[in-house]
Amino acid sequence: MSQVRVRFAPSPTGELHLGGARTAIYNWAFARNNDGVFMLRIEDTDPERSTPENTAQILRSMRWLGLDWDEGPEIGGAFGPYFQTERFDNYVAALEKLKDNGSVYPCFCTPDELTAKREAARKTGGYSGYDRTCRTLSLEDARRRIDAGEPHVWRLAIPLDQEDITINDLVHGETVFPLTALDDYIVARTDGTPTYNFAASVDDTDMQITHVIRGDDHMSNTPKQALTIQALGAPLPQYAHLPMIWGPDGKKLSKRHGATSVEAYRDEGIVPEALLNYLALLGWSLDGETTVIDADTLTENFSMDRISKNPAIFDTAKLEWLNGVYLRDMEPAEFAPYMVEALAKEGLSDVGDYEQRTEWFHELAPLVNERIKLTTEIVPMIGFLFVDEVQIDESARAKVLDKEGAREAVAAAREALADIEWDLPSIESALQALPAQLDAKPRLVFQPLRVALTGTTISPPLFESMLLLGKEKTLKRLDATL
Ligand code: GLU
Repeated sequence: MSQVRVRFAPSPTGELHLGGARTAIYNWAFARNNDGVFMLRIEDTDPERSTPENTAQILRSMRWLGLDWDEGPEIGGAFGPYFQTERFDNYVAALEKLKDNGSVYPCFCTPDELTAKREAARKTGGYSGYDRTCRTLSLEDARRRIDAGEPHVWRLAIPLDQEDITINDLVHGETVFPLTALDDYIVARTDGTPTYNFAASVDDTDMQITHVIRGDDHMSNTPKQALTIQALGAPLPQYAHLPMIWGPDGKKLSKRHGATSVEAYRDEGIVPEALLNYLALLGWSLDGETTVIDADTLTENFSMDRISKNPAIFDTAKLEWLNGVYLRDMEPAEFAPYMVEALAKEGLSDVGDYEQRTEWFHELAPLVNERIKLTTEIVPMIGFLFVDEVQIDESARAKVLDKEGAREAVAAAREALADIEWDLPSIESALQALPAQLDAKPRLVFQPLRVALTGTTISPPLFESMLLLGKEKTLKRLDATL
């Protein structure tokens, strides 16, 4: 068996979205599982919609997810270049080969003629593809018209002695495409540029791709590409078409359903391990029940035969739940950088601060990561530790501080804390006596303290928060509230 070589081939016409990311993950996992090569190829032949910014964004998203490629942009490799716009020589050479072996023919039909033919066919309900007028031109005629400079495209001559082509799709099984429904598709335009299907076929051939793993939406391109590869005299790769990802409404996942790009999820507080895990299991399963799976387990166990044939439904709540699992599982040293990054964005802390107070941050980490599902919840939860004075949230004030007994609770706490050592046992014993002393429910005593110190009703545990806030700030905030 030759070495497995797969490619992820995004068009840089937009950001890397969830569907693309999942395709990349499956290619990567399949390559790793087979000690094969995972290649990244940028299909940037659409000059109007392809941008370097999109390419950069795709590369960034892939690195963020931990999808390292063995060949491709910024890395190189023996089969480069890895941008289609830099591979025109290959397309020209392949076209020459097809001209030589008679698999393509020049077509001189003008756009107007083609439209008229299509209209006529539509009226009679007949075959609406190209009627193959130019396929019957003699070689001499064709040559003469080319030499005279007549504009022409090149079309693939679909075999007419063959009824269908069968692809053994690794997800969908044997798939038969009738050739009667297939056009002699254009491989090279009037200006000589290759069409998408032609470029992809040439690249998959030249780059010795063994498995084409891509979305279902490319299924209809497969017979065209397979016939082109056959015409080039190369062996066909194996194909695996992945079912689409649907939104909760059963329609293809799109912007209508909210964020769809990898970086949008990052910005909404998802960590890469969780997104990788979630997408990996969205259409593939380890054993039908596992929901938490790390990258190593994925690559060790990935196989095509466990890819689902049916569309997968994207479920934001499940992704967020999984994200919470990953956050909770993080060691303080792993979670702290997320806190620092989130705080730095708000100008509340920075790496220098973290380096100076590493231990303090590490004590804080488990108080936070057990209580959140998204990293965007970090600042609202612990921002109060990084400011001189807190802004009391108006609704928290109305609901808690303005209630009867709140003032007394704060005053009693102020007194109980005034002269103690500042460690957890001392804080605890000073405050735990208060409810009995005030003859009030613990919640009615402690919630006002929480609001006074943090400005909100949601925070890490109260006593730990006080410890980390420090004695001076704690007393100052209680005073301010009083
Ligand atoms: N450039 C195509 C896309 O982004 C890739 C199709 C393929 O993998 O063959 O959809």
